[in-house]
Amino acid sequence: MERKCEFCGEQIPQERLEALPNTRRCVKCAQKNGSDIRVKQVGTGMDIDTYKDLLGAIRS
Ligand SMILES: [Zn+2]
Repeated sequence: MERKCEFCGEQIPQERLEALPNTRRCVKCAQKNGSDIRVKQVGTGMDIDTYKDLLGAIRS
């Protein structure tokens, strides 16, 4: 499966797609513009979107 970033048009790395199957942004653009993933986890106080995107960034 291949997907390109909606901002810069670069191909999103496979590892990132595995970590964030619904993302349309590469790591750089997600860091710059914010994650497009909206999965809310109630009660932790942690922003799961950002957390997951950080994971993706580390893996890439
Ligand atoms: Zn991008």
